Amino acid sequence: MVVRAYSNFCEVLTGGETLTCRLRGRLKLAGHGILTGDRVTIAERGPGTGLVTAVLPRRSELIRPPIANADLAVIVFTTQSPPLNLALVDRLLILARHSGLDAVLCLNKTDLSSPEETAMVVRSFAGARAPLVLTSALTGVNLGELVDFVSGRVAVLAGQSGVGKSTILNVLRPGLDLEVGDLSAKVQRGRHTTRGVRLIPVGDGWVADAPGFVHLDLPALAPARLQEYYPEMAQFAETCRFQDCLHDPEPDCAVKAAVARGEIDAGRYQRYLGFLHELQARPRY
Ligand code: GDP
Ligand code: ZN
Repeated sequence: MVVRAYSNFCEVLTGGETLTCRLRGRLKLAGHGILTGDRVTIAERGPGTGLVTAVLPRRSELIRPPIANADLAVIVFTTQSPPLNLALVDRLLILARHSGLDAVLCLNKTDLSSPEETAMVVRSFAGARAPLVLTSALTGVNLGELVDFVSGRVAVLAGQSGVGKSTILNVLRPGLDLEVGDLSAKVQRGRHTTRGVRLIPVGDGWVADAPGFVHLDLPALAPARLQEYYPEMAQFAETCRFQDCLHDPEPDCAVKAAVARGEIDAGRYQRYLGFLHELQARPRY
């Protein structure tokens, strides 16, 4: 597995040893950029070095961060500092699932949330079919649970700046020493170095050291497909009067009825409508 890819070479983990590898010329010609996370076959060359001879097919491919074969998005958010933004969490859920990743929600800084706020978050995502972990990177609470979710997988941390992604990684991987808090330092580092994304071993799995899904536009989706990202709607949608119901202006909509009965979270549904209208307003080509 490529644990760090640069433009002309990469670091490949094989049987506990990390080899610095160049790309076979033929691969370079084929324009086969290697990504961190790629599974590759290599030929050993000298001590500690090798040659990448083939890149295996990718299960998934992300652009931000540039990483192959990620399985899991850990969507980190807070109720305080920065303030709760549920629409952003919904967007990240849609983006993660659209990229073929499972999602885990991580409400961090629970040391700053009131019990009422935390309970409201739990209710909001009860139907979203993504596990929710309540953490505090400050006190360490429930970080072990997060490690269990990462187990056996390649994970990407996603979420707004300031929610604690670097702090979480630093706690999970002492000695990693990612810069925390100081945004200007992070931006500078991003600008002035061309270091590749690294996969950091965490428990039995891996976490990318660069955050995911920085670009928050909804994916290119037909409006009718948006509801596929709302598992809580599926069972009700079957009994809407119209088979192609978007659960918006249509009469006899079983989804709206479920919202009215409180069986689907009203906030999730309202934000769904906002996203639906956003997709409907997009120019079609
Ligand atoms: P990132 O931008 O998502 O990587 O966020 P950082 O890891 O840089 O954290 C932003 C700020 O929040 C830093 O000052 C951290 O010390 C602080 N922070 C991170 N996690 C927690 C937490 O669980 N509780 C509290 N109170 N502060 C935290
Ligand atoms: Zn409907």
